[in-house]
Amino acid sequence: MQLSEQAGSLGRLAARLHRGPTSGDTGPVGELGSGVWVHELAIGQSIVAAVTERLEGERVHRLVLEVGQLSGVVPDALRFCFEVCTRDTPVEGALLEIREVGGLARCGDCEREVEIDAPFGVCDCGSPSLEVLRGRELRIKEIEVD
Ligand SMILES: [Zn+2]
Repeated sequence: MQLSEQAGSLGRLAARLHRGPTSGDTGPVGELGSGVWVHELAIGQSIVAAVTERLEGERVHRLVLEVGQLSGVVPDALRFCFEVCTRDTPVEGALLEIREVGGLARCGDCEREVEIDAPFGVCDCGSPSLEVLRGRELRIKEIEVD
């Protein structure tokens, strides 16, 4: 069985989780020794929430995520946080496959398409008016259940 999830709803879930208490939190973020992975942790939680609400008693054995290079998500950090967030859930032990999506933008002046690895860049023609076409994805691409 394969399900799809739009990046938009996942983004909203992450945003909602972000508003939780952040100071004096003794949760998993504290265990990591710093707050730098709060973003990935929130995403891990929202992934688990989005996936488990679609399950009907199955267990997930493989999950494919598309992560854009401009999304600000660090794949290795997300992998770690995914393990933390999936403990004692039907997603625990699932194989997490992260597909990185390169950044692509179109120049507003010369209309050339340029590959970028940061949200802000400059076209070869010198113009900074780049419209991002690809690379902000954060999407559950496939869910495989038993
Ligand atoms: Zn240009």
